[in-house]
Amino acid sequence: MPLDTSTLRVAFGVVALIQLVLFYLVTFRRTRSAYSAWWCAAIGLFLAGSAAFLLDGTSHQVWANPLGNTLLVAGSAAVWAAARSLHRGRPRVAQLAAPPLLTALASAADNPGVNAWSGGPVFLGMMSLLFGLAAREVWRPVPHRVRTQVPLAVASWLLSLFYLGRGVAFVVDGVDGFVFTTYFGSAVTTLITLTLLVVVSFTMAALSNDQVTRDLRHRAARDGLTGLLNRSGFLDRADRELMRLTAAGIPGALILADLDRFKQVNDTYGHAAGDTALRAFAEACSRSVRSTDLVGRYGGEEFIILLSGADGGRAEAVSAEISRVLQGTPTAQGFPLPTVSYGIAEAGAAGRGLEAVIAAADAALYAAKSQGRNRAVRAAV
Ligand code: GH3
Ligand code: MG
Ligand code: MG
Repeated sequence: MPLDTSTLRVAFGVVALIQLVLFYLVTFRRTRSAYSAWWCAAIGLFLAGSAAFLLDGTSHQVWANPLGNTLLVAGSAAVWAAARSLHRGRPRVAQLAAPPLLTALASAADNPGVNAWSGGPVFLGMMSLLFGLAAREVWRPVPHRVRTQVPLAVASWLLSLFYLGRGVAFVVDGVDGFVFTTYFGSAVTTLITLTLLVVVSFTMAALSNDQVTRDLRHRAARDGLTGLLNRSGFLDRADRELMRLTAAGIPGALILADLDRFKQVNDTYGHAAGDTALRAFAEACSRSVRSTDLVGRYGGEEFIILLSGADGGRAEAVSAEISRVLQGTPTAQGFPLPTVSYGIAEAGAAGRGLEAVIAAADAALYAAKSQGRNRAVRAAV
């Protein structure tokens, strides 16, 4: 059954237009993410490029055909930029502009008034190259690779290979050859592009949902003032970490820290100074522990730390280091930062649950306060 290219192109245009509007309204406006902006640009360019091809065979072909080639290549460059923005910056302007420019020159110089395939090899080569670059970018290992990226990468590889095949067939077989007209003609291309457009749009939307969910989850686990984990964020992670330590027989230590006479800081220097002290303490904690340790704001001016692989002695040393860093922190307002009391309990190999370890550290903290503050006390094991 011969496929009618014009009808397919109109169908492609309608579907792409709907995708563009839906993607803009639903995904871009919600996430404002770089890749959804690039993807909107890509669909718009594909749409405009396909529209230009509708003028093939008319007196406008002389400018419309090179323009169509150029817009489609620019659209693929936008796909590359979208893929790249997933985890790196966007490509340089020159890198993005060079392929469409080369395509425009090659098409314009190739007798476009009578040749509906003007600049064909350059156009096909650029399409293959840019989709290949996009696929490589999506395929690159990233910290949060999600399953939704797989169809995106596969679609990009398929398009890259398809355009490579078209390019080879074009050069070897010619536009009127059997292979090109049967397997790589405009009708087949439009059909394949239409299918992959839907796959990619769907995947992009899923990807942006993942990103929004990850963002929300991240924010829900963080304390707004200090940027540390909040109470529930800490407890979730510490519970899992403690189970891991217990199962592996690795020691661990939990520290509860409470700023001394913090109310006086607020009362004497104001609430903003109190907030500054809390941030300074959080910073001192982060600078004194390893990146794999967990630090959270347990409430008010109380903080909680889980040190993996550490015993009580190491926790004491870390507490002393935190206080040393804190006292060395300059404050813009010039007020003295408060001292800190610490309660330490060993965890992990001891086999107790998180709640019991926190209770032991809390009792030790109480002891540190009653012994005169500004010290660390270890819970009896
Ligand atoms: P102690 O040495 O016994 O711990 O005395 P303290 O003054 O530190 O303890 P208390 O529990 O009496 O006071 C804690 C104060 O922390 C009271 C509260 O207003 C203040 N606070 C809690 N959260 C914040 C906050 O986010 N910002 C500021 N500036 N103050 C806070
Ligand atoms: Mg206090
Ligand atoms: Mg307190």
